[in-house]
Amino acid sequence: MVEHLVNAIRNVDGFPKDGIVFKDITPILADAELFRAAIDLLCATAGGVKVDKIAGIDARGFIFAAAMADRLGAGFVPVRKKGKLPWKCKEAAYALEYGEAAVEIHEDAVLPGEKILLVDDLLATGGTAAAAVELLSGLGAEIVAISFLIELSFLNGREKLGAHPVRSILNF
Ligand code: AMP
Repeated sequence: MVEHLVNAIRNVDGFPKDGIVFKDITPILADAELFRAAIDLLCATAGGVKVDKIAGIDARGFIFAAAMADRLGAGFVPVRKKGKLPWKCKEAAYALEYGEAAVEIHEDAVLPGEKILLVDDLLATGGTAAAAVELLSGLGAEIVAISFLIELSFLNGREKLGAHPVRSILNF
């Protein structure tokens, strides 16, 4: 199944700018069997631990995190790009593989001590996920694991994610 998932990813050269090979996962999302397999594999990265909430990173992380939350009987928490959340927020800035940005989380999205699984579609340089970790840790969450469908290992992103277990399904 992993091979089918790899084959379905579309590599788009030069998007959103020169030098980036964008991993387009929309062919996986559009295929019922592949989408379900991706969610199955991501759910397994929880390692059987009962988590309170799945935190998903804006925007493709939401797609997987929300489905996983339903499957695992957990709540869903959005880590959003700056300026999108309506309530009181905590903010963390980060450098992206292609630019700079900041993410935000609602102050009351996570309670101290809650077990959280953090999810995104892809780990590149690790800046985005590290900012999400900063936000969740700042609210007192216990991050059980950080899970990605795709890891670009050559960018060493996991080095930015400290001692938290980092689990990815497809490695490039
Ligand atoms: P980074 O902070 O460098 O780890 O970048 C990770 C975030 O940017 C994720 O939310 C990805 O969706 C997106 N991203 C970065 N590089 C790529 C890429 N080559 N293909 C698809 N998405 C990417």
